[in-house]
Amino acid sequence: MRIVFLGPPGVGKGTQAIRLARALGIVHLSTGDMLRQAAADKTPLGLQTQAYLSAGKLVPDDVMLELVRERLDKEDCSGGYLLDGFPRTLVQARSLDAMLTNGGTPLSAVVDLQLEVEALVRRLVARGREDDRPEVIRERLDQYKRQTAPLSDYYRERGLLHVVDGGGTPDAVFQRIRAEIDRIAPR
Ligand code: AMP
Repeated sequence: MRIVFLGPPGVGKGTQAIRLARALGIVHLSTGDMLRQAAADKTPLGLQTQAYLSAGKLVPDDVMLELVRERLDKEDCSGGYLLDGFPRTLVQARSLDAMLTNGGTPLSAVVDLQLEVEALVRRLVARGREDDRPEVIRERLDQYKRQTAPLSDYYRERGLLHVVDGGGTPDAVFQRIRAEIDRIAPR
């Protein structure tokens, strides 16, 4: 399966994405993790993008598209993958579509985790990562609302969207996601 995970910062997207990818036996691809690793390794990509991450701003689309294109071309992705944190803009979503349609490997489903903003902020503050400082949290939530939330409509129009309530324990959320995926591809 080829799955995209959508959801605002703090919704628990990363945790759930890892768990679902493991359950389905597909590769988990987090563009945020890839960029944080590149920054830690001080690669050209890391040096080029670090300032965006620290400010909670989105990395430019052309940089992201190149990164994802290269990664999806790798052999391990041929058995399916779960994209966590990409696409984040309509430009990225359309380009991904074109890329996958050309390759005859369209997306199977888009999981959209949702939670009210107060709960998101609480979870982010509790997590305490470097880019979870209050002013950066505000910026990331704002970027999400403006740039990424429209992707829900984009994928709904294409019949791919599965909205899942991100509230409650991680186990409860995972059961909901699993139930949605089972409806597309029964075990
Ligand atoms: P995440 O761990 O998914 O929240 O991503 C952390 C940061 O990486 C984001 O705040 C952005 O600065 C950057 N980033 C990750 N994925 C993307 C993307 N698809 N487009 C633009 N920026 C991204």
